[in-house]
Amino acid sequence: MELYSGHINKLIEELAGLPGIGSKSAQRLAFHLINMPRARVERLAHAIVDAKENVRYCQECYTLTDRDQCPVCANGKRDHSTIMVVENARDLAAYEKTGKYEGVYHVLHGAISPMLGIGPNDIKLKELMQRLEGDVKEVIIATNSSLEGETTAMYISKLIKPTGIRVTRIASGVPVGGDLEYIDEVTLLRALEGRVEL
Ligand code: ZN
Repeated sequence: MELYSGHINKLIEELAGLPGIGSKSAQRLAFHLINMPRARVERLAHAIVDAKENVRYCQECYTLTDRDQCPVCANGKRDHSTIMVVENARDLAAYEKTGKYEGVYHVLHGAISPMLGIGPNDIKLKELMQRLEGDVKEVIIATNSSLEGETTAMYISKLIKPTGIRVTRIASGVPVGGDLEYIDEVTLLRALEGRVEL
């Protein structure tokens, strides 16, 4: 038996397909949306389509941006010879919020996970290696301290070592499995300053 109208079911189904949204949350959100004024629903729908159409990867670091180059890469005052490797754009934002990091970034968009079938070719690793052909002095690996993050860090360091470029790993003051974006700025800075040679 169909409990709700087909339209609502369709909406619930779409929402439930988003990460972190279970079927209960999807139902709650769907009913909330239905009760919202039409103008607000349209604003939300437009914002989603707009973001999808206009957001792209930075040509250099692969973070998400509205332009060809993100503000960090476009900034001539940043140290372009130091690259911090992060798993996603939210991790980049967390480090940017500290305001203390002067290098640039490289966003992998994921981490290697044999369990989930995510291999080196599924993240922006080739792109990182291409960047290293330029003038790079240090690569700071700031992937999460989860199993996937550590696997990725090891893999990257093995790839980079033969090039002679300095490879470091942020200190493990960062809670195991903790997403970088949830860690406070002091802890992030301490992890960065206490980074170790790989
Ligand atoms: Zn960039």
